[in-house]
Formats: sequence, structure tokens, C-alpha cells
Amino acid sequence: MAMTTSLETQIRDLPKVSLHDHLDGSLRPSSLIELAGQVGHELPTADPEELAETFRANADSGDLVKYLEAFAHTTAVMQSAENLRRVAREYVEDLAADGIVYAEVRWAPEQHVQGGLSLDEAVEAVQAGLNDGVESVADKDGIIVIGQLLCAMRMNDNADEIAQLALRHRERGVVGFDIAGPEDGFLPKRFEAAFTTLAENMLPTTVHAGEAAGVDSISDALVSGRARRLGHGIRIAEDISLTEGVDSRSKDAEDGDEQLVEVSLGDTARWVRDRQVHLETSPTSNLQTGAVTALTGREESSMVEHPFDMLYQLGFNVGVNTDNRLVSGVTLSGELAAVAEAFDYGLAELADFQINALEASFLGYEEREALSAFILEAWQ
Ligand SMILES: [Zn+2]
Repeated sequence: MAMTTSLETQIRDLPKVSLHDHLDGSLRPSSLIELAGQVGHELPTADPEELAETFRANADSGDLVKYLEAFAHTTAVMQSAENLRRVAREYVEDLAADGIVYAEVRWAPEQHVQGGLSLDEAVEAVQAGLNDGVESVADKDGIIVIGQLLCAMRMNDNADEIAQLALRHRERGVVGFDIAGPEDGFLPKRFEAAFTTLAENMLPTTVHAGEAAGVDSISDALVSGRARRLGHGIRIAEDISLTEGVDSRSKDAEDGDEQLVEVSLGDTARWVRDRQVHLETSPTSNLQTGAVTALTGREESSMVEHPFDMLYQLGFNVGVNTDNRLVSGVTLSGELAAVAEAFDYGLAELADFQINALEASFLGYEEREALSAFILEAWQ
């Protein structure tokens, strides 16, 4: 377990925005154990702390199969309306306890129908749980606003159905659509019909891209996926080249030469930066899944090697997320503290990331403006 720093405590008390966090990757260990007992699902251990540590160790192992193991356990207990409702309520309570005031929670309904629920019933159960959570947070004088993002799984063929499902529930909690699962080999183009339906009906999409695959995946997310945001998106760095040159204008003393860094952006990177397409980065998860090592070419990478800061400095629109709080063993406050430590950020930069995320959120304009004022005031 990571030590909680005082900066992290300070961050926890400030209002934050979470745009990329999977419901099935973020259960409470104690609830997972309890529900697994009820449905007769076997877990690696029945001790909550040990279970959390096992998942975190698997996530850190660099083995994607081990990383994904956790989801088999979590989805096994999320097959009834009752359990989905409970998990969703606790999800909201846990986010509020970490100081999050606006969140979009993503999950894939098609992974939760093995117990006989219809897709609509599954979405309704999650929404009921989210509503319960918002109410219980309000009872303690807290505030949180939350919307659902429905994911279609890339290796399946349900995208059209999930897009229709999202449209049916748009006035009842669903704010957007995503595709999740294996990125490499499953380009958004494969789901073009679904994305077109959503675009025709003006429901926004965010698309996982630039995590397990590179620039082609990102450009297709923007073109076929019509993505308003990118899930992670960090391999946009592959479309950026930095070359160090010497300033030839200073011809005097050798040590007077200035090292200049020339930045050149490819067409996709230029589009993403100039159009301010929001990148939902998830620093620890990006290290665990190999998205960062894909860039560094090294076997292991640390937070300082994450392209987050380079992207931020170059004017890309970045935010910080958790991706899967249980699986990765993280919180949003912890992730913000980690990037602050790696890149020497103060509260002003961390506040930037909240506003970037809020502005890129799928919340309506008026609500966004009101929340933005509230968040800015608290961080100043
Ligand atoms: Zn994700």
C-alpha cells in the first residue's frame, strides 16, 4: 500500500472530476468478498486487504492476462439487479469520499446479462444504484453528479445494440458511449454503423485509443468513432517528434550555445492538440498495461517517463483518471499526487486538469458552468 502523503490529503479535500473509471474495476474488496460468497464464486483470498494487494500485484506484474484476471472475479458477482445496484451505490459513495464532485462511470452492460437480466434491466439497476449513492452522499451534506457511459466490447458484435441501448436511456442517466476491450486489431471502423447512429442522434462518444495501439487507432477513433475525447490517448506521443538542436544564432562561446528542442507534430497529433481533444490519461494504469513502455521501448517505466507532462507542456488537453481503482490499487487523489510528485506540479496545475476534464465532460453546458465556478473557487 502506498503511503498517503499530506499533498494527497490536501487534494482529497478539493473538488475533482473523474471521467475514466470502470465500474467493474472499482469494487470495494470487502463487498466483492461478500457477494462472491453469496453467489458461490471462488476468490484468491477472503481477506479484503490481501485481495486488494493481490490485484495490485497482478496489475504491476506487467502481465496483461494477470491484470485482466480481476475482471473475471468482479463481473461474476455483478449479474443481478440487486448486486449491480449495490456496487453502483458504493461506487458513488467511494468517489465522494475521495472528493469527486462530477464523474462519468463506464461499464459494459453486455457483460452483466448472464444471470438473466436484460440489457435495459442492467442499465436500470446501475442507475438505481447511482441514484442511491447520490442520495446517500447528499444525506451527509456532500454533492456529486454522475452519468453513465455505456461501453460495447470490441471483441463482440453488440455495438449496434449497445448504441440503441444508450439512446433509450439518454434521458435517464446515460450521457455517452465508448468501446472497451482489446484495442489492437479492433479498430472503431468495425463499429462504424453504431457510431454513425449515435452521431445522427447527437449522443457523444469517447473512445479507448492510444493505449494498446498507436496513432492509426487514435485517428480512427476520431474519424470512424467521432470521438469527442480519447480514452488514455497517450500514444499520440508517437506522432510527436522532439529533436534537440543547437541555436546557431549564438556563435560566441561554445557553452553559450542554447539547446533548442524542435517540436514537430504529425497530422493526428496536430488535430488532437489544436482541436483540444481531451485525453483521459490514467497514469498508473498506463504504466501497468504497458502503454508507457510502448513509448519508451524499455522493459519497465516509471511515472517520470509517462508522456503526461510533455503533452501538457505542448498544450494538449489532459486530465488525470484512475481507470480501475480496485484493479490498479489507486484513487484519484493518489494519482494526482503521483503526477504532482513526478512532474513538480502545484495546486494550480492540478486545478487545470479538473477544469480540462469538466469542460470535456458530457454534462450539459449550464450545469458545467455552475460546477466549474464551484471547483475553481475551491482550488484557488
Ligand atoms: Zn479504460
